[in-house]
Amino acid sequence: KPFAYAKTVQTVCPYCGVGCTLNLKIIDNKITDIYSTEGNVNDNLLCVKGRFAYDFVSSPDRLTTPLIRKNGVLEEASWEEALNLVAEKLKEAKAEGPQAVAGLSSARCTNEDNYVFQKFIRTVGETNNVDHCARLCHASTVAGLAKSFGSGAMTNSIDEVDLMDVMFVTGSNTTETHPVIGAKIKQRQQKGAALIVAEPRKIELAKYADVYLQIKPGTNVPLLNGMMRAILDAGLEDKNFINERTEGYAAFKEFMDTLTVEGCAEICGVDPEDMRKAALLYATKDKGGIFYSMGVTQHKTGTDGVMSTANLAMLTGKIGREGCGVNPLRGQNNVQGACDMGALPGDLPGYQKTANPEVVEKFEKAWDVKLPQNAGKTLTEIINGVGDGTVKFLYVMGENPVVSDPDTNHVKHALEKANFVVVQDIFLTETTEYADVVLPAFVYAEKDGTFTNTERRIQLLRKAVEAPGEAKNDWEIISLIAQKLGAKGFDFNSAEEIMDEIASVTPSYTGVSHERLRNGDRIQWPCLSKDSEGAKFLHAEKFTRGLGAFMIADYIPPEDQADEKYPLILMTGRILQHYHTRTMTMRTPGIEEIAGDPFVEINPETAKEYDINEGDFITVTSPRGNVSAKTRFNKGIMETNLFMPFHYGNSGANHLTGGELDPIAKIPPFKVVKVNISK
Ligand code: SF4
Repeated sequence: KPFAYAKTVQTVCPYCGVGCTLNLKIIDNKITDIYSTEGNVNDNLLCVKGRFAYDFVSSPDRLTTPLIRKNGVLEEASWEEALNLVAEKLKEAKAEGPQAVAGLSSARCTNEDNYVFQKFIRTVGETNNVDHCARLCHASTVAGLAKSFGSGAMTNSIDEVDLMDVMFVTGSNTTETHPVIGAKIKQRQQKGAALIVAEPRKIELAKYADVYLQIKPGTNVPLLNGMMRAILDAGLEDKNFINERTEGYAAFKEFMDTLTVEGCAEICGVDPEDMRKAALLYATKDKGGIFYSMGVTQHKTGTDGVMSTANLAMLTGKIGREGCGVNPLRGQNNVQGACDMGALPGDLPGYQKTANPEVVEKFEKAWDVKLPQNAGKTLTEIINGVGDGTVKFLYVMGENPVVSDPDTNHVKHALEKANFVVVQDIFLTETTEYADVVLPAFVYAEKDGTFTNTERRIQLLRKAVEAPGEAKNDWEIISLIAQKLGAKGFDFNSAEEIMDEIASVTPSYTGVSHERLRNGDRIQWPCLSKDSEGAKFLHAEKFTRGLGAFMIADYIPPEDQADEKYPLILMTGRILQHYHTRTMTMRTPGIEEIAGDPFVEINPETAKEYDINEGDFITVTSPRGNVSAKTRFNKGIMETNLFMPFHYGNSGANHLTGGELDPIAKIPPFKVVKVNISK
């Protein structure tokens, strides 16, 4: 009988940047099952999150009404009361000047939500203080690949893995963090392609690798420089490609001539012969792709690491051809889209720079407003501004900085001092504890809109269920506040209308429309016209910037070095079962059963030194704080290293992280944290 009411709705996975197509099985306004489909990217594959972690949608914990803090307690309020209060506080803050308002947008909201959010902060908030969690994951990709190639995105499509003769995976635990891409890499390796893996932990892919380089954390730059030195020594550089398609090679070569493979290998802690073997394997195969993630980006030298991957691809001519490229694997489902939509302080939609007067004039005309002149603050600067009182009004849409940002104690202290904080979310989170107003929003299954996955593919979300209580669409909430303040340009009736506006101001999205996606068109940006499917791979005839630029990147040691007081180095990261700060995945009992507890991975030999048994609770202490968690033994982690997932608010690995930011991308160093442990 119940199945008589079933319907199936095709949409996109709300978790990682792979962007798998999901079929949601709906009975009585509830998701009862999810199954895979041929889809655009996943060929019937799904990981445990996409397949099973859907209980959060109908969770009784969902926010259903606006909440206003009164006498220290969040109390239910009407939309009218909540929106009036937010509008009034925003008006008050604006009177303090252009740095007094700031917004954190969201990589788990749609393109349409992100577009409206950044437009709201810029035109109603009159400031460029808008950023989102890309600052914590791939800001160095956006900055580094923009310098080398002119645009910061995955250059290949996921299905080009099937064409590669060699795959070089560095700083990415792909089978856990991008499981479907990890599976495709393994499938390709089984069909005979070579696999090189460089990663401080012996991850699953290392078992399949022809060469596995267990590098010390924070040594990506010397790893790539050493491999390039080996390629030059063997005369395997692609001279034609270098001459015809690049610039800056002479200075780069001069720098490379100061290095040796042995010297680089010593810094990385690997055998120089293994480094040579990896380099020659990569250089001698015809088609090859580099895949990297936050093991490369989350460092004080993240931008240098990214530019070094670009140098390696250009040196061997493995870019701009099908099956050849540099592939940053974006973490969250729509982190690519949130960047594309201009949820970044220095970029309007389509990476059009706020510092370019022609760009500003174009948007002023399109939006019929005067745009702010200030240089916007980044995420970490916004939190600092909240703490020092320069930011008086903070709007957080779908982010949980209390768990995700570095140096949790610092974030909490800043938010404790905050003048006014609005959080728009689907659940109460660690961050709503500091909110003055909480606004209930839709989840992915309640929305129409689009996500852009890691391979630049724009995909359609379809509404499958009704939202609980009085929750609203993210873009609608923002538009209502804008309208209360008399702003023009927020009278949208649908996500489709918003996409039409996006297409009109964003060159790389010119050909995108919901209608085309509904009709089954497959679109990857840049899509410059309505009859184009966009680009399967980037930089085919020329780089986005014209010539590809060789950039010199020398080794700069991480700020944190093991010492007597803190003799171990901690890396943080993600695990297969959880997404970001667990607000969604922890509400699926099966997921919690297998991955409900935080843990610290430690080499059994290290544990022996400290008289620790597997499963013992230990305290991990860094110069910034301490946390406790159970130990889990892993022989594949170096004796000098530890690993902790950052997902768990209840243990909070980010109490330990922090330190000097990458000077260009302003990304924090999550991967090299000096710590001590005690039982
Ligand atoms: Fe696919 Fe990623 Fe979702 Fe897993 S989490 S189903 S790999 S999109």
